[in-house]
Amino acid sequence: MYLDQILPFAKNVLEKAIKKGSIVVDATLGNGYDTLFLANLVGETGKVYGFDIQEHAVIASNERIHQHKLSNRVTLFNCGHENLNQVIPVEHHGKITGAIFNLGYLPGGDKTIVTKPNTTIAAVEQLLEIMVPTGIIVLVIYHGHPGGAEERDSLLHFCKQIEQKTAQVLQYQFINQKNHSPFILVIEKS
Ligand code: SAM
Repeated sequence: MYLDQILPFAKNVLEKAIKKGSIVVDATLGNGYDTLFLANLVGETGKVYGFDIQEHAVIASNERIHQHKLSNRVTLFNCGHENLNQVIPVEHHGKITGAIFNLGYLPGGDKTIVTKPNTTIAAVEQLLEIMVPTGIIVLVIYHGHPGGAEERDSLLHFCKQIEQKTAQVLQYQFINQKNHSPFILVIEKS
């Protein structure tokens, strides 16, 4: 098959935007797999800021990063991504080149702890303020769980009304898959 599936597509887009030395955000740490991916992309001189409201997600991510000896380039926050403009140091505002949101609940974790439309949108708005032009935000949207459809619809509504002079938005989705298969929104700051 030639078409990229959802997660490889997300990684390909991020690989285009993120270089050695980049400053990036993992907005939903979970088990830290995306953080590890980002930490390798940014290299020794880059920085990854990671967020999760669940302490054990922060601990699991921290352990993963430590095992790979990448702790020097990663800072994790046990707080919601809707606070990112307050906790990311001001010297990195205006320098962020990429961000990923893997929405929904943590697989294998508490399925009632899910990302929410208002806080997700607040974080995206803040990122649009503090990213470089051409900065990329990838949102992987899962919508089969309780609350998932509401978050999907809110994000689609929010993204459709972003002015073109602010950002362009791409939707990448297989439209004939069953079982609420995930899809992607990519926001590129103008
Ligand atoms: N990227 C992760 C990985 O590689 O394992 C998977 C992320 S999981 C689908 C979603 C995560 O978002 C959960 O760990 C959940 O605790 C977290 N979350 C929910 N609301 C959040 C918020 N407001 N800010 C940051 N993280 C949040």
